[in-house]
Amino acid sequence: MINTDVVIIGAGPTGLFCAHQLGIIGLKCEIVDNLDKIGGQCIELYPDKPIYDIPAIPECTGEELTNNLIEQIKPFNFNHHLSDRVEEIKNKNEKWLIKTSKGKEFLTPNIVIAGGVGSFEPRKFPTKNCEKFEGRSVLYSIKDKGIFKDKSVVIFGGGDSALDWAIELSKQSKITLVHRRDEFRGAPSSVEKIKQLQKEKKIDVLTKYSIKDVTGNESIESVEIKNEEGESKVINTNYVLGFFGLIMQLGPILDWGLNVDKKTIPVNTENFETNKKGIFAIGDICSYPGKLKLILSGFHEGALAARGCFKYARPDEKYRFEFTTASNTIKDRLGVKE
Ligand SMILES: Cc1cc2nc3c(=O)[nH]c(=O)nc-3n(C[C@H](O)[C@H](O)[C@H](O)COP(=O)(O)OP(=O)(O)OC[C@H]3O[C@@H](n4cnc5c(N)ncnc54)[C@H](O)[C@@H]3O)c2cc1C
Repeated sequence: MINTDVVIIGAGPTGLFCAHQLGIIGLKCEIVDNLDKIGGQCIELYPDKPIYDIPAIPECTGEELTNNLIEQIKPFNFNHHLSDRVEEIKNKNEKWLIKTSKGKEFLTPNIVIAGGVGSFEPRKFPTKNCEKFEGRSVLYSIKDKGIFKDKSVVIFGGGDSALDWAIELSKQSKITLVHRRDEFRGAPSSVEKIKQLQKEKKIDVLTKYSIKDVTGNESIESVEIKNEEGESKVINTNYVLGFFGLIMQLGPILDWGLNVDKKTIPVNTENFETNKKGIFAIGDICSYPGKLKLILSGFHEGALAARGCFKYARPDEKYRFEFTTASNTIKDRLGVKE
């Protein structure tokens, strides 16, 4: 059981800046995110795209913004719990008990939900039999490409991820790329490269096919595919990879007894607390009159929610407002040497 002042759900820009604000006012926090990396939408959806409306930064990419936010909270050494989803929240002795999908437990007086548009999850194969191989020989993301060395891999999908991995893995594995359409959606240069590899017989490409079934015992042995005319083919394989994009799901957040309005959580604008004492919501997931779904709004919301957390984490202390430029306490917390 991890005891802390605040648990932040979501390591997007809003959750990260809120962590900074908690750090400078002397509170501890733990950050949990369903993704395998920090940065939320900025890193998952547009890492290379320039953003032009972050105050005082004329231009930076989603990745650069994320890296700067990570750098800014480094002095506090907060823990990040990635690839882990907060599933359950329960009241326990005036505090909140939080359980995650990996079985971690936190006890805290404050929760800050910075869950954006929900947790990102891969769109999966509709085939029921795929479930029993999921995470072992049916995969929707790649953490270690070494496992595919000298193996047969069937890749499904027509977008950038499917094409990029087909190209990359063709250097070390036997690849079959299957797509339900004739045309690929990926970058033109990747489509060209795939055609070239196909010509050189370094990769098999089957279009207008989709998955029908998979067979195997401990691991997958073969995958059956079908086309619109009902013709099917069986391909012997060690791995099946699906790259069909991500869906965003509010998921378990809906089950925590919070007021929810059109997939957002209504909050007050004084400290961004929800209808539950000690549960705050900030960033894209919160709503109030005039809400703008912008990163800069999330920063402001995080700053006020952090102060809201203070009174539950330190009930016997009075919060004192201080500027970072002038406060020696804050400079100590940041490890600034003068
Ligand atoms: C293509 C694109 C371009 C954009 N351009 C701009 C721009 O120019 N300027 C601007 O200001 N904004 C822009 N935005 C919007 C901006 O990205 C969002 O406002 C911002 O990311 C919201 O931050 P957030 O921290 O609230 O949520 P998110 O970035 O969505 O992060 C939320 C995180 O919470 C996690 N999560 C959710 N539920 C759980 C759970 N139960 N357990 C664990 N983790 C969970 C998710 O995995 C996610 O990582 C753009 C958005 C897109 C899609």
